[in-house]
Amino acid sequence: MSAPTRLALIVEDEPAIRRFLRATLAANGYEVLEAATAHAGLSLARSEKPDVLILDLGLPDRDGLDLLRELRAESQLPVLVLSARDTESAKVAALDLGADDYITKPFGAEELMARLRVALRHRLRAEGDAPHYQRDGLVVDVLRRQVSLHGQPLHLSPKEYLLLELLARHAGKVLTHRQLLERLWPEGGEADAQYLRVYVRQLRQKLGDTAEAPRWLLTEAGVGYRLLAPG
Ligand code: CA
Repeated sequence: MSAPTRLALIVEDEPAIRRFLRATLAANGYEVLEAATAHAGLSLARSEKPDVLILDLGLPDRDGLDLLRELRAESQLPVLVLSARDTESAKVAALDLGADDYITKPFGAEELMARLRVALRHRLRAEGDAPHYQRDGLVVDVLRRQVSLHGQPLHLSPKEYLLLELLARHAGKVLTHRQLLERLWPEGGEADAQYLRVYVRQLRQKLGDTAEAPRWLLTEAGVGYRLLAPG
């Protein structure tokens, strides 16, 4: 018995990139729909109910972020955002608006499929809200609020724990600086990305992890942080 075919919707105005996306997705067993404008994309998303949306941010009629905002008001469809390297703030805004992941142009077929798997897995997990994270000796038990490393309990401060829990609940997905700051310091005030960096450094120290060769915790420069998907 073969797996059910997934339907992907591509919203991208550059024909060459659309062709590449279509070929890559088709080769990986997807059915593909295409739109070259935000208007056409939104109407296809509504009428065809795809399993995943691949969304370019620079579209001729409306900003891709507008489309995402409108879509998120009505749907939890997994969204993978395509962005150019020079539009970091747009990438961050897309994640803040609920994009599941992003990929920076230019990209290859393998990276595309890996990011797509992350976006789909993240959405499945968000629905089930997995209470348990496990990878490479690190276990985060969200129900009991316990963390262990290679079988030994790991003592974290409340903020360190909250940071790790947030990342674990969204493992595989980038959380932006703003998303983390809003949860860690809901009172707002002075907290900024520098504060976050301090807690991330402390957490890494306790885990014995490093930014240069991460086993769990990845820095997404200028964007936020990502805990590697459970392994
Ligand atoms: Ca474009």
